Formats: sequence, C-alpha cells, structure tokens
Amino acid sequence: MAVHAHPDDESSKGAATTARYADEGHQVLVVTLTGGERGSILNPAMDTPGILDRIVEVRREEMAAAARALGVRQTWLGFVDSGLPEGDPPPPLPEDCFALVPLEVSTEALVRVVREFRPHVITTYDENGGYPHPDHIRCHEVSMAAFEAAGDPQRFPDAGEPWTPLKLYYDHGFSMKRLEAFSAEYERLGEPFPLQEWLDRMREYSDNRADKMVRVTTQIECGKYFPQRDDALRAHATQIDPNGAFFAIPIEVQQRLWPTEEFELAKTRVTTALPENDLFAGIEDEHR
Ligand SMILES: [Zn+2]
Repeated sequence: MAVHAHPDDESSKGAATTARYADEGHQVLVVTLTGGERGSILNPAMDTPGILDRIVEVRREEMAAAARALGVRQTWLGFVDSGLPEGDPPPPLPEDCFALVPLEVSTEALVRVVREFRPHVITTYDENGGYPHPDHIRCHEVSMAAFEAAGDPQRFPDAGEPWTPLKLYYDHGFSMKRLEAFSAEYERLGEPFPLQEWLDRMREYSDNRADKMVRVTTQIECGKYFPQRDDALRAHATQIDPNGAFFAIPIEVQQRLWPTEEFELAKTRVTTALPENDLFAGIEDEHR
C-alpha cells in the first residue's frame, strides 16, 4: 500500500517500484489522501479556459489513467487539498483542508482502508514530507498513526477487523547522488546538463543537511518499469509538463546509471538484514 498526499505523487515517488510489484503478482493499492483540488496548472499546454472549473473531475480522470499505466489499484480518502501556502508570512490554511482535519479523524479513515486491504507493507513520506507541503507532512503523521492503530482492537473499533501491517517505509527518490551521477555522465560526454539548476538548488539546500542517501536502507531494482512511470507522470497532464525536468534525462541513461528507487525502512515487525533490495524482505512467503 502506497500512501500519497495528492494525485500525481504516486507517479513521482516510488512509482516504478509499485509497477514492478504489481507486475510480479502482488496486490498494490495507492491511497490518495486528498483530491488535489488546489494544485496549480503546471503544464502550459493544459492551461486552457474552463479547466480550473472542472479541476476535481480532471484530476480524477488523470489519476485513473496513471493507475492504469502503473497497473495498480487506487482509492481516494476524500480529504481536501490544503494547497501550498506561499508568501511571507504564509497565509492561513483554508478551513476545509486536510492538514486541519483532526489527526484522529484522518487516521480512522486510513485505518479503515488498511483493515480492508490488509497490506503487509506500507510506503509513505518521512517527517519532512519529502518537501514541506502541509499535506505531505500530514501524510507522514497519518500513515505513522495508522500503522500503529490498525492492528489494535481498542482503537477505532468501528473501522473494521484489526490488521497489523509488518513494515513501513519512507520514499527517498530525489537524492543528490542520483542527480550527480547523471551530471557526471553529461560532463563525460561534454554536453550541458539539463538539470543543472535543480542540482545547484539541491546543493544549496543540502549545505547544512546530509543527502537523503544516508537514510536509504532499501534499493529496489525497477529500471524496466521507468517507461510505465513516465506514462503515469504524463497522465497527470495538468500537473506535469511533458517538456519539464522529469523527462530531461533519457530513460536509457537512467536505466544504465541509476536503475533503482530508494526507501528507508522506518518501522518493522519482522527481522530483516540491511541493506535490502526487496520491500518484502523478512516477510514469510505465505504473506507475499
Ligand atoms: Zn503532493
């Protein structure tokens, strides 16, 4: 079960991993906490009159197409996107938004889905949310709370039969080491690196904190599924610019230099040896 804040997050974080496990016969469910109602149109070609009026519907259609591309199931938790507050000081969050829903309420909603789907493994974001969007931070909090509560019969007794998930991971896709590996290749070829600006920004940001690779415990080989990941990204046509950064490095280069996705094992109820190359490592065969 992959828990994400908005429609499109499942296609940019751990997407090829979900496609691989689905292809190998696992049941994979993406849980999308909010409807992405406050996402801005990031693809100039899709910024057409009327599109914002039907954004909820559009994002549902996009999500369905992305799930088809990845070969996974997907469900909505039904909360409302908090939007990314911008400005100094940032404006208050909208009243109806997910980040302001009491944690008990959103946790119960996720526990209900966990008890119904009965996952052995859950993926979510780290305590920084991957990036500081209020819904991403909340996604972390709700996932952690649900991982603890789902198996406890005392908690949320009206939300289904208790079920204890075994492992919980954080997505750690966008490491600096990965960008640097691509950059070195362009340098070797004597060509300008198309993601130089992104890399510079990351270097600046990382000055006082270590690259996320130091937290990675688990690398999943999934290069074969990068084309599906890119199809899923492109399915989110209002959010993802097909000429943007996600597609700047040819798939063959990515497959050759960095054919994995990265995760951090944050909670486990089974014994496993680190580093791992399988999210199900340590889980008995009968549960796989
Ligand atoms: Zn998001």
